[in-house]
Amino acid sequence: MQSKSHIVVAGGGLVGLLLACVCKQSQSSCATVTVIEREFPLSSEAILDTRATALSADSRQRLHSWGLWAGLESSTAAITDIHVSRYRRFGSALLSAKEQQLDALGYVVENSAMMSSWLDLARSLEIDIRTGVTIDAMTDTGEYPSLSLSDGSNISASLLVVADGARSRLRQSLNMKTLAREASQYAIACNVAVSEAVEGRAFERFTEEGPIAFLPLPNSINGQAVYNVIWCAHQTTVDQLMPMSDSALLAAMQETFGWRVGRLLACGARGSWPLASVEATEVTRHRCVLMGNAAHTLHPVAGQGFNLSVRDISALATVLQDFDFERDDSRELSERLRNFSHSVESDRIVTQSATTALASVFDTPSPAIDVGSPLALSALDITPPLRRRVAQLGMGVR
Ligand SMILES: Cc1cc2nc3c(=O)[nH]c(=O)nc-3n(C[C@H](O)[C@H](O)[C@H](O)COP(=O)(O)OP(=O)(O)OC[C@H]3O[C@@H](n4cnc5c(N)ncnc54)[C@H](O)[C@@H]3O)c2cc1C
Repeated sequence: MQSKSHIVVAGGGLVGLLLACVCKQSQSSCATVTVIEREFPLSSEAILDTRATALSADSRQRLHSWGLWAGLESSTAAITDIHVSRYRRFGSALLSAKEQQLDALGYVVENSAMMSSWLDLARSLEIDIRTGVTIDAMTDTGEYPSLSLSDGSNISASLLVVADGARSRLRQSLNMKTLAREASQYAIACNVAVSEAVEGRAFERFTEEGPIAFLPLPNSINGQAVYNVIWCAHQTTVDQLMPMSDSALLAAMQETFGWRVGRLLACGARGSWPLASVEATEVTRHRCVLMGNAAHTLHPVAGQGFNLSVRDISALATVLQDFDFERDDSRELSERLRNFSHSVESDRIVTQSATTALASVFDTPSPAIDVGSPLALSALDITPPLRRRVAQLGMGVR
C-alpha cells in the first residue's frame, strides 16, 4: 500500500512526537502529519524506574505556550538551587534561583509524563501515529522522499523529518555528514531513594572520570524522596558498576557522592549509554530535515540535548507556519528549510561546543582545565556575575 502525508516524522521519541504536535498545531493550512515509531508507546513505569529530563526555564516557557505545561506540572520538580562540588576536594558553590530573581533554575520532568502528554495531544490533533512499525529503508522516488515500512506499506512525504535518534539510519541513507566524537565515557542513569532530601536542590559533583548529578524527582516512595542520578565515568568503571547488586552499587555511589542527601536507600532499574557526541554538519536536504539526536547528540553533562531540540522545534514550526502544503511549492519549501538551518546554526554551535568543552575536561586522568577545582568553585561562589552566567546557561539563555 502506498500513502502520502504532508509531514512524515521518522521516529516518535521525545523530539519526534513533540515536533509533530507543535507543527500540526501551528500550521495555518490543514497539513496531514504522520509519525512512524518502531516501539509501542511507553507503559507506566514504577517510580524507581522512571527516566527524567532537566528542562530549562526557556523550554518550560515554550511548552507553556504550546499548551503542554499544565498537564506536566504534577510530574515536575522545580530546581531552586544547584550545589556544585568536587570529589575529595574542599570547596563548593551554590547557584540559587532566588539570587537570579527567578522561581526556579530548571525543572525535572519524568520522560514518561512527557511522552503521555505528547501522545494525548497528538491524538487530539488527529496525527496519524503508527507504532510498532519499523522504517526499513528510504527509497528515492525523485521529487518526494519515500519510506518502506515493516508492515509492507510505503509512505511518501512533502517534508520528511528525520528524528530516528543518535544512530540515525535515515541520516546515513541520505549520506549526510557528521562530526563524531568517540565515547570515552559512559553514563549510568537510575533513580535512588534517599533518607534526607533537600527540597528543590540538585547536586553536581565532579570526579576525575566525570560528573555525578542528582536531580530531584516529584515523587516519593514509602515517604522517601527520590532523585534521578546520572553518573558519568570511564567504560572500565561502568563495566564494573553495571553488574553490581543494588546494595554494592549504592555503596559505591555513596562513597563517590557523599552524604549530602543522607543515606542512599534503594535504587531502581539502571541503564547505561556511551557518551559519544554526534553533530550533523548539514541538517537539511531536499524535502528532508534532521531533528533531535539525529541532528545533534550531546553529552548529558550540561543537560542540554532535549532543551536544544525544543528551540529547534520552535524554529522549524515558525518557518513552516504559513507554508501551503496543498500548493507544495518545492522551491519555497527549500528556501524555508534554508532559513531554518541558518536560524538554528549559532545556537547549535554554541551549545555543542560549550557541552563538549565541559565533557572533555574529564577525558584525561589529569584534566588541563580544572572546572571543579576549589579555586573555580570559590570563584563561582563569590562572583555573582559568573554565577549568573552559569545559571543562565543552565536555563537555556544564550
Ligand atoms: C543519561 C541521559 C540524560 C539526559 N538528560 C538530559 C537532560 O537533563 N536535559 C536535556 O535537555 N537532555 C538530556 N538528555 C538528552 C535527551 O535525552 C535527548 O536529547 C533526547 O532524548 C533525544 O530524543 P530523540 O527523540 O531525538 O531521540 P530518541 O529518544 O533516540 O528517539 C528516536 C526514536 O526513533 C525510533 N526509531 C529509530 N529507528 C527507527 C526505525 N528504523 N523505525 C522506526 N522508528 C525508529 C526509536 O525507537 C526512538 O523512539 C539526556 C540524555 C542521556 C543519555
